[in-house]
Amino acid sequence: QEDPSFWMDNNVQVVAIRVRPLNSTEKSLQDFHRCLKQESDHNITWIGQPETRFTFDHVACETINQEMLFRVAGLPMVENCMSGYNSCVFAYGQTGSGKTYTMLGEIGELEVEPNLNRGIIPRIFEFLFARIKVEEESRRDEKLKYSCKCSFLEIYSEQINDLLVPSSSNLLLREDIRKGVYVENLTEYVVKNVNDILKLLILGAANRKVAATNMNRESSRSHSVFTCTIESRWEKDLTVNSRFAKLNLVDLAGSESRQKTSGAEGERLKEAANINKSLSTLGHVIMVLADMAHGKQRHVPYRDSKLTFLLQDSLGGNSKTMIIANVSPSICSANETLSTLKFVRRAR
Ligand code: ADP
Ligand code: MG
Repeated sequence: QEDPSFWMDNNVQVVAIRVRPLNSTEKSLQDFHRCLKQESDHNITWIGQPETRFTFDHVACETINQEMLFRVAGLPMVENCMSGYNSCVFAYGQTGSGKTYTMLGEIGELEVEPNLNRGIIPRIFEFLFARIKVEEESRRDEKLKYSCKCSFLEIYSEQINDLLVPSSSNLLLREDIRKGVYVENLTEYVVKNVNDILKLLILGAANRKVAATNMNRESSRSHSVFTCTIESRWEKDLTVNSRFAKLNLVDLAGSESRQKTSGAEGERLKEAANINKSLSTLGHVIMVLADMAHGKQRHVPYRDSKLTFLLQDSLGGNSKTMIIANVSPSICSANETLSTLKFVRRAR
């Protein structure tokens, strides 16, 4: 049995780069070559003008599989929640860079067993439910019990829609002294095992696709947020204690949508500007939090976008954030890859 703390970083914000393999189109190019060269588990070089070397907490090269990625980027977040703290995992990167593959895996294969492609979300919950069982058994004298509830939403053009109840759209963000920040009328389902999770993931992905088709919009422009609230209760000295921790798993809109405002008009322009807003505010918040971790006093602009306001209780403070930056190694994506590496460098 391995010691989970082996995989833990002490940093509050952790950045992992994940390079996806070249796809068949990229490989079939006449003189295909890469824009990236991996140096070590922490360094990666962008080969272009000028050649730029980057240092991150983790660099996962093309051969790193889903299980290995889970060890680095998923497991520490579960441990953090088991200790009673909130956690966020973000998948950042251009469309086609592997965000959804990293988070979910191949969506059509989710229920296939065994499934080597399964992404970190299913793996996180496999591990979480196993950890819960061990904890409950080891503290039976305290009657320790966990209960987990999940919700799944998308933010599209600064509007919040419930992915588990398609008719439930344009929901409001509220703030409450007791509950903190929450989405009004968002459905939450009690989950007991990985199958319950897979059902919610499949339902949410299907609804996301239908909504995108009906409204004639690209799903790559929405952020999806899968949240699990983990409650634990135990008895000690005749009193009942309880504790909450939130685990937020976020598949962000394609990072290329940060730039694409040119040429857009009317609704499309508003849309582009709004998508811009959640992504760029997230970048800003993460940068400010990194400054604060280095001892600077700063104001954190959580309220500037729906995404950062929603996740306010899980970003900064005692929370832990994992940013997985997905990049393509192909020369065709060189510019977007560079801009992703630069964007996430600000988190450290
Ligand atoms: P995104 O969600 O960022 O738009 P996807 O996750 O849909 O990107 O990935 C695009 C394609 O690349 C998919 O067909 C996916 O299966 C494949 N892919 C992405 N990352 C990997 C990887 N690490 N290993 C194998 N295939 C991958
Ligand atoms: Mg995707």
